[in-house]
Amino acid sequence: MELQWSLVQAVGDKTATVLAKELDLHTVEDLLRYYPRRYIERGELTELASLREDEHVTVLARVKTAQVRESRGGGRRSSKRLEVMVTDGTSDVQLVFFNQNWRHRDLQPGRVGMFAGKVGTFRRQRQLAHPEYQMAPEGVDDLQEAAQAFADEIIPVYPSTKRMASWRIQRCVRVVLDQLGDVPDPLPAGVRAARNLLGLGETFHAIHRPADMRSAYQARDRLRFEEAFVLQAELARRRASTAALLAQPRLATPGGVLEALDAQLPFELTAGQREVGEVIAADLAAAHPMHRLLQGEVGAGKTVVALRAMLSVIDAGGQAALLAPTEVLAQQHHRSLMGLLGSLGQRGMLGGSDIGTKVALVTGSMSAAARREALLDIGVGDAGIVVGTHALLEERVQFFDLGLVVVDEQHRFGVEQRAALAAKSRDGTRPHVLVMTATPIPRTVAMTVFGDLEISTLTEVPAGRAEVTTHVVPALEKPRFLERAWERAGEEAAAGRGVYIVCPRIGDEDDASMLAIADGMAAEAGAGMGDDDGSGGDDPDRADDRRRPMAVVDLAETLRAGPLAGVETEILHGRLPPDAKEAAMRRFVSGAAPVLLATTVVEVGVDVPTASMMVIMDADRFGVSQLHQLRGRIGRGSLPGVCLLVTEAPPGSPARERLEAVAATRDGFELARVDLEHRREGDVLGAAQSGRRSSLRFLKVIRDEDVIRAARDAAADVVAADPELREHPELAAAIDAVLAAQDEDYIDKG
Ligand code: ADP
Ligand code: MG
Repeated sequence: MELQWSLVQAVGDKTATVLAKELDLHTVEDLLRYYPRRYIERGELTELASLREDEHVTVLARVKTAQVRESRGGGRRSSKRLEVMVTDGTSDVQLVFFNQNWRHRDLQPGRVGMFAGKVGTFRRQRQLAHPEYQMAPEGVDDLQEAAQAFADEIIPVYPSTKRMASWRIQRCVRVVLDQLGDVPDPLPAGVRAARNLLGLGETFHAIHRPADMRSAYQARDRLRFEEAFVLQAELARRRASTAALLAQPRLATPGGVLEALDAQLPFELTAGQREVGEVIAADLAAAHPMHRLLQGEVGAGKTVVALRAMLSVIDAGGQAALLAPTEVLAQQHHRSLMGLLGSLGQRGMLGGSDIGTKVALVTGSMSAAARREALLDIGVGDAGIVVGTHALLEERVQFFDLGLVVVDEQHRFGVEQRAALAAKSRDGTRPHVLVMTATPIPRTVAMTVFGDLEISTLTEVPAGRAEVTTHVVPALEKPRFLERAWERAGEEAAAGRGVYIVCPRIGDEDDASMLAIADGMAAEAGAGMGDDDGSGGDDPDRADDRRRPMAVVDLAETLRAGPLAGVETEILHGRLPPDAKEAAMRRFVSGAAPVLLATTVVEVGVDVPTASMMVIMDADRFGVSQLHQLRGRIGRGSLPGVCLLVTEAPPGSPARERLEAVAATRDGFELARVDLEHRREGDVLGAAQSGRRSSLRFLKVIRDEDVIRAARDAAADVVAADPELREHPELAAAIDAVLAAQDEDYIDKG
């Protein structure tokens, strides 16, 4: 039977319709890849005389009596109870079924059956309530052997729906398995042999109808490896095709603007910054585009590294673009680049340096005239650096000679954006790409999601950074703590320092709580607020019993009227017009308004050295990494900082424990781990893997590092020997299926 055959042929029209409607299963392969969630093992075949309370057992016995009893509860509907006495000749045990009278038909006195269940006691009578059973057909001689087989059988439990119960799914799978012949296997035979893995056909049998638990585990191992392998093969293929692309080598020339910057930096580069700088310089000098991920904690000094890369491209005659996810951040980057460059960034202006360059800022909100001027500078090559949002790529911005694109935060920079770059460069070459992220990504995740990027990490944070202490403030248990927090905010403000107050919602809206979330950098698709493990238990959308999270607008009103009366406050969120955002930020940066109430727009990149305090309201509504990012906004200068995580989550709850974890460490990698462990795999991997059709069902990227490494090596070998996968059509098809499912997901999400 072909794996792509319709289920109609395999299980018939009616059942196929239900499978399609209820479970979205259409082909034989869909069904075979609908794996059991767990297995039930029946109890050991046991003599009736030796039954013990609470044990799971299987017994072979003959029905002695069977009768239906009725019990009436005060006024409610009566319930019917089927009581069956069975015996093995020596001892008896009672079976009870509630409201299942139809079983009476099976359980006629004199018939022999196998009964499996947990031993209980009712009125001193040994009892099996609702046992699973199978009646022996008439005329079977060796009942003992049949009973043994029944007891040994392992029952798969499938994720089911009301109309498609697990046992029905099991039956359909068996029908398919019984017709299944040879199955094409995406894992090449050599790879399988090297790791001693089951073939795909055997795997389907072993996962759906395991002879013992060991073979079920073997099947899982094989599927786990397959998932990793297919993904790694695709990544290896992408790496190979990237390696085939051409780029202009950009050789840094001495005596240029890079050297001038190095000479004027007010600090020494750290060893890490220097090393990464050299690696990047080597990448830029190559005739193939760089695709490098630069990761490092907030404040690790990535911006300088990126700027130095941009300047070496400028020294080589090219241009560089810096893309940020939001306009606020683009403006912020523009400011900090200008700050580092000083007169080097003002070429052509009064007081500007001759060897310097121009930095253009392109935003959606700029005036038409300013925009025209910027575009002109970019087009003729006067602007060596162009800062903008990711929209810069889609717009009709013509570069004179774009050599390097630096992308801040990887999550919104996908394959499509990279493809858009092709249109931006000359002579069919591609610009070099440097992606920066402050979200530490554990190696295995990087290998899985960003397997086609080279990775550099800045591990040390430049010396002289201030301490930040973090405390959890339980708002319900200790209201006094919160009062004290507002007093402290007032004190900080009075001392000329900045205070951030962050809320999950904007407020002043009907039901736009998601708008505040959409502001947030870390609000990646699928992760929502990164609120929890995604199981729904703590989902803000569903938790009707929880009050709505604190809103910026409401809290501002409360604070201005009370605890912070007389203190200048500003509001910042994504629904403000750009000039209002800019003005609010300016007043906060200058100290004119020492308190900034904001949503997660302040999360990434915002750099105010005088900020010393952050209060995060309803902190449990944020994800661990998000909190860590937010906290990175303070302690930017030499001032020690304090971060307060205000929550109503009860002590001991998972939400509270996550907050305690954030308070306990500033190690971003450690927290990334905590965060990932709390999330669904799909959230870990981003939108591409978060769909219902996620290709990762057995692989856990955090746990299965060994598997991912082995799969990566094996896939690299296969792709190196056969880049087009001509010899491995099954593997190519499996990759296409994963990619198609991802596309479908993007479409589903609109
Ligand atoms: P990131 O972008 O990684 O969050 P930044 O590049 O914004 O970090 O750097 C944070 C702060 O540290 C900035 O004010 C920057 O000027 C400063 N900085 C960067 N590198 C060094 C260094 N080697 N020594 C001292 N300060 C540095
Ligand atoms: Mg930065």
